[in-house]
Amino acid sequence: MILMQGKGVSKGVIKGKLYFFQRPDTTVAMRQVEDVEAEKQRLAQAQEATVQQLNILAEKAREDAGEEIAILFDTHAMFVEDEDYVECILSCLEEEGCNAEYAVQMAGEQFAAMFAAMDDAYMQARAADIRDVSQRILNNLMGIVEGGIDSEEPIILAADDLAPSETIQLDKSKILGFVTQGGSSNSHTAILARTMGIPAICGLGDALKAEYAGRVAYLDGETGSVVLDPDELTHAQIREKYNKQQEMKEILATMKGQEDVTLDGKKMLLYCNIGSPEDVSAVLANDGQGIGLFRSEFLYLSASDYPSEDEQFEAYRAVAAAMNGKRVVIRTLDIGADKQVDYFGMKKEENPALGVRAIRICLNRPEVFRTQLRALYRASVFGKIAIMFPMITSVWEVKECKRACQSVMKELETEGIPYNPDTELGIMIETPSSVFVAEELAKLVDFFSVGTNDLTQYTLACDRQANDLGKFYDPHHPALLRAIKMAADAAHKAGIWIGICGELGADISMLPTFLAIGIDELSVSPAAVLPVRAAIRQSIAQTCTLEMLEC
Ligand code: PEP
Ligand code: MG
Repeated sequence: MILMQGKGVSKGVIKGKLYFFQRPDTTVAMRQVEDVEAEKQRLAQAQEATVQQLNILAEKAREDAGEEIAILFDTHAMFVEDEDYVECILSCLEEEGCNAEYAVQMAGEQFAAMFAAMDDAYMQARAADIRDVSQRILNNLMGIVEGGIDSEEPIILAADDLAPSETIQLDKSKILGFVTQGGSSNSHTAILARTMGIPAICGLGDALKAEYAGRVAYLDGETGSVVLDPDELTHAQIREKYNKQQEMKEILATMKGQEDVTLDGKKMLLYCNIGSPEDVSAVLANDGQGIGLFRSEFLYLSASDYPSEDEQFEAYRAVAAAMNGKRVVIRTLDIGADKQVDYFGMKKEENPALGVRAIRICLNRPEVFRTQLRALYRASVFGKIAIMFPMITSVWEVKECKRACQSVMKELETEGIPYNPDTELGIMIETPSSVFVAEELAKLVDFFSVGTNDLTQYTLACDRQANDLGKFYDPHHPALLRAIKMAADAAHKAGIWIGICGELGADISMLPTFLAIGIDELSVSPAAVLPVRAAIRQSIAQTCTLEMLEC
């Protein structure tokens, strides 16, 4: 038996084959080839495979995401065979006598540059489509598996750690659980696992060896243990735990359709955190009553160029429509720090968590902000969208955000494009300074949502990504809980609601404290909705105390 001990960051017991994440080398170099005809054949095969994949994506989108996204994939499939584009690739192949990869890359860049230089904003935005199509052909030429998983059967994904842009592109239908050498409970792998409701164990270090690939592993996301070849006793214990987990699932299923209310009648809004439109199905399956945090970064992290207004609009509209009138809080771009996006060309920073991230990028780059706000306001008539600004530290930032919203609304008005002028505006309380000026901030917005992941990091001066800070990174620290209370008091004084969208929101041991503070909303991963609901329904708000705020 081999036992590896890490930190359980998403609960659940599961058995599956270990599969190591494939991090492809995507650099394309020019190579002279002897046989140009053979390269042409490789190209034709890659084009055919690309068209087939795009047709499948279009079909899937037609079922899940709507006609407009499906048409986008149809258009991409047509572009693969576009006469001028293919001609451009072939002439590069013939003239240079080079490899197909290089010819595709050159043609893609040439066409993208041509579109980007056009006057019409719509045509300019097509440059990103062309890059996308070229990348798909390149993937097929280079044998790169999109989503990093080349396996027919579902697997347990093993990696050193996964970057946000990598987690976004994973084919989630094939993942039973995660095991990583690094990472922490706030890493994106952990957040993704909790959203998917599957077990994850991080911080396994060197114990997780590449030679274990293909071996059957047993994961316990609660204890953080990973076992290969369990002995009889261990096997029996795992089986028992698995059976209990299944029983618990059945009990929790009875919570569906129940109200989120304490025994003494205090109502709580129980919403979900999502990272992409495809997570909405998990929200609906778990009976989430809204979306309290839609991390819009996925659009930027999964793209190779700035996502266009139309692309963003489609994603926001799809989520708003799928939630059918329930509140959907969409957070504006929150990149920087650990979420790096190459095409933003950000300078390398010594302390990126304290650098130009989130709202700071948007306020520095009004065009990027404007594009997102236009997409959000256009989508606002398709459901109940609320806009939330991350990493706020000052009153002037909120005023500037509101001015940007006003200006976008004015533009849409002039263009005759419908939008909801009463779209709620909120901010994240995730910096100590936002807590200190919460009274002033509360007068400017419709709601607060506490980002406990960052608020813990900035209040306790503890890097949220580091997995060796142990007890120093303590989200139960009285300083943090007092900060939440200060923000809640300020919110209620101004008559606005306050929620918690950081990971602490799903910590059932904190529920009495949240009830005592008067938190109005909890936004948790979809898999946490039913357990939190069960806890709310067993609570008596009036008996809850603030004792955890004492040192
Ligand atoms: C937070 O900081 O608590 C939060 C919800 O935002 P993110 O984890 O995306 O930074
Ligand atoms: Mg945050």
